[in-house]
Amino acid sequence: MPDDSARKGHGTPHGFFTRMSHAGRAGTRVHGFVNPPVVRGSTVLYPTCADRRAAAAKRFDQALTYGTQGGPNHHALEDVICEIEGGRRCQIVSTGLAAVTVPLLAFLKAGDHLLMPDSVYGPARSFADGMLARLGIETTYYDPCIDEAGIAALIRPNTRVVYTESPGSHTFEVQDIPAIARAAHARGAKVLMDNTWGIHHFQPFRHGVDVSIQALTKYVVGHSDVLLGAITVNTEEDWRTLRSAALQLGQYASPDDCWLALRGVRTMPVRLARQAATALEVASWLASRPEVLKVLYPALPGAPGHELWKRDFTGACSLFGVVFRPEFSVEDTWAFVDSLTLFGIGASWGGYESLALPTTGFITRTATSGDLGGPAVRLHIGLEDTADLIADLEAGLSVLRHHRG
Ligand SMILES: *Cc1c(COP(=O)(O)O)cnc(C)c1O
Repeated sequence: MPDDSARKGHGTPHGFFTRMSHAGRAGTRVHGFVNPPVVRGSTVLYPTCADRRAAAAKRFDQALTYGTQGGPNHHALEDVICEIEGGRRCQIVSTGLAAVTVPLLAFLKAGDHLLMPDSVYGPARSFADGMLARLGIETTYYDPCIDEAGIAALIRPNTRVVYTESPGSHTFEVQDIPAIARAAHARGAKVLMDNTWGIHHFQPFRHGVDVSIQALTKYVVGHSDVLLGAITVNTEEDWRTLRSAALQLGQYASPDDCWLALRGVRTMPVRLARQAATALEVASWLASRPEVLKVLYPALPGAPGHELWKRDFTGACSLFGVVFRPEFSVEDTWAFVDSLTLFGIGASWGGYESLALPTTGFITRTATSGDLGGPAVRLHIGLEDTADLIADLEAGLSVLRHHRG
């Protein structure tokens, strides 16, 4: 039997590192071991038929009733994510993308209108243009740097959701979330936010967000070996809407994957701090290079969105963009990326290893020009030594210059 001696930590005044060491551990200790076992299961047995009937009423709670409703590993992870997001209720889903699609399906219906930032995560755009359009939901893309009056002017009587993602995918625009939320709420629309970049550095519910989305695949898991998503809300009404949709859609995540995410989250604060510190050093070094037009890293003083970031965020992760001077071609920047030895060429981020990915030619923009002033590359900074990463990038910049010829 689990005992309850592990402190939950939720809602305590403790610092973030302390809370990430203790959250989600109440009642999970088995045979005295620090970490809970993986609990796999579909069928849950009931002592009596009356118990079976009582269980049906518990689908909005962390009750053990059937596999799809979640088990101890899911519940522990839900508690940890609520702690990170500062929210009340969390649904764990199979991927970060499912954490995007499930709340869109939960809060929208045929005939509704959706506002999406032009810098939204690409597969979210595909979902809006594909599945949502097919279901009779119309999407308008807006400039992510829009102000309160601008978003208010785009809201129609049938606009039910204003979606946000800050900073934007690949182009890192910081959105004025409180202003967008004021305009949306004044007109009865819900504000959804993809908070994957901000993690605990952006507290969505203090800034007017109703539904916060995180791809746990990134820093929470942290080792590039598991896909997982979380959707967090702060009211019982939103929870009922969200939870009903997740259950109807059969959304589920493997308990083994939840267990790995719980393992990951214990070291996430220290990984994140180290990776962000390295990212800031690498970003400022790149910003000083003659080949670079600008660095798209909101945490970097002088970078686009820095002032808004300073107002609303308490820190940064280690993902940013580099825009090269326009005299370099896209092919020159590919030669730069190809030449790097410590940066893998691949999607996703938040793992312990550095990554590089071309931006120009791989992203869609329809509400804005998408012109960054030159070809761009996205970098994810891992746990490697700063000096080694800078030396690798310096050698890459020499390849870039010579490719140009
Ligand atoms: C990666 C990512 C997702 C999707 O996560 P997956 O687990 O890969 O499906 C969603 N939003 C953002 C901003 C992401 O970077």
